[in-house]
Amino acid sequence: MGSAISCGMTRNPDVIIVGAALNGLAAALALGGTTARRPLDVVVVDARDPRGFASTAFDGRASAITAAARRMFEALGVWPKVVHHAEAMAEIIVTDSADPQRRPVLLSFDAEDMKGRPSAHMIENRFLYAALLAEAEAAPHIRFAVGSAVSDYRFQPGLAQVTLASGETIRAPLIVAADGRNSPAREAAGIKLVGWPYDQTGIVVTVAHDRPHHGRAEEHFTPSGPFAILPLPGNRASLVWSEHQAEAQRILALDDTAFLAELRRRFGDHLGEISLASGRHGYPLSLFVAETFTAPRLALVGDAAHVLHPLAGLGFNLGLRDVAALAETLHDAAALGLDIGSEAVLERYTLWRRFDTVATAAAMDGMNRLFANDNAALRLVRSAGLLAVDRLAGLKSMLVTEAAGRSGQLPKLLRGEAI
Ligand SMILES: Cc1cc2nc3c(=O)[nH]c(=O)nc-3n(C[C@H](O)[C@H](O)[C@H](O)COP(=O)(O)OP(=O)(O)OC[C@H]3O[C@@H](n4cnc5c(N)ncnc54)[C@H](O)[C@@H]3O)c2cc1C
Repeated sequence: MGSAISCGMTRNPDVIIVGAALNGLAAALALGGTTARRPLDVVVVDARDPRGFASTAFDGRASAITAAARRMFEALGVWPKVVHHAEAMAEIIVTDSADPQRRPVLLSFDAEDMKGRPSAHMIENRFLYAALLAEAEAAPHIRFAVGSAVSDYRFQPGLAQVTLASGETIRAPLIVAADGRNSPAREAAGIKLVGWPYDQTGIVVTVAHDRPHHGRAEEHFTPSGPFAILPLPGNRASLVWSEHQAEAQRILALDDTAFLAELRRRFGDHLGEISLASGRHGYPLSLFVAETFTAPRLALVGDAAHVLHPLAGLGFNLGLRDVAALAETLHDAAALGLDIGSEAVLERYTLWRRFDTVATAAAMDGMNRLFANDNAALRLVRSAGLLAVDRLAGLKSMLVTEAAGRSGQLPKLLRGEAI
């Protein structure tokens, strides 16, 4: 992988992708990977070198990958590279209790799709980065310019341009911004956000435990937010433990012994003795959706377009939906000889993705507000089970629908078809 592209750059690419993390790499593969029928020429730019992303020190999270996302990975040739790191979710249980000794299960469901395949797999992000990057590096139509941030954007009629901090410029008919929640590209285009931060931090850590989890994922709603125990291969689990921000900072600063003591109080003893199997990370949680997903010569994907509460593990899955819909839109336009960065082409992408995203983001927000709340009246209603079961049934049907890929108009890649 070259750190700069100026010398090898004899012509403009079709697309510049800013961001070489999960969504940027997935976009590169969908647009210019070896499985694309008519690959577009892509340059992927990142301020950092993505070869450093495949470590728990960089990203300690694991992602729930739905069946639709798995089909997309199969279509992009990525799945064989991660399947041996994937843990199938056999069952998901949900409770409304912070007390590990008293957790009546409000809802449980077999995590299988209609054909009996798992509706989701847990995979550590470090393996996802490595697999996506390896596949992208092997693709002749994908080039990288990494280690230098984009310092300037120009969106001109007919052509967009990025200038890197190194001084180099790259031009293309379209920029795809996969540059994360603070997206400088979105800012440069003047696209506003709708949403708000939560007073919650997601503490993420991997634990090893004595007893097998049997593929069971657990989500315990507590007054400070959801506490999720997500199964990983071996007797290990990835935890997403939400706390109010000040409390999270206190917990994150504890030494390992004190941190583990706090954790045991919430985790319980059903999986036997637990120990820390990774460092800990804190992720501030929020809900943001961009007012529009496109601007002249620009399309947003992934966290640049939307940031969700991680309670249902859908953020990256939604990013993959963006990528799949955008790639299909652009490939279709290119096949017709259209300008892929034109307003008419980008309009199709915005219409395809924004409504679905807002609906999912609102559902996640509603769940978080209902459960992460110690309001006495709400607690009374919840304890009667009625509201909770009703809302959780909604979550269940959303997850099942999402996993089966039946929500919205599904892009071909999410059906497992090459484009
Ligand atoms: C606690 C937690 C748990 C989660 N669990 C799940 C889950 O189970 N399932 C799921 O689907 N999702 C989950 N998510 C969401 C998911 O992790 C994110 O949606 C996803 O990682 C976002 O990836 P991205 O590529 O869009 O952005 P990022 O990972 O933020 O990458 C942006 C990239 O852009 C680069 N960049 C930024 N600015 C510039 C610039 N000016 N020039 C050049 N490069 C630039 C950065 O260096 C970076 O590499 C979770 C999120 C959290 C917080």
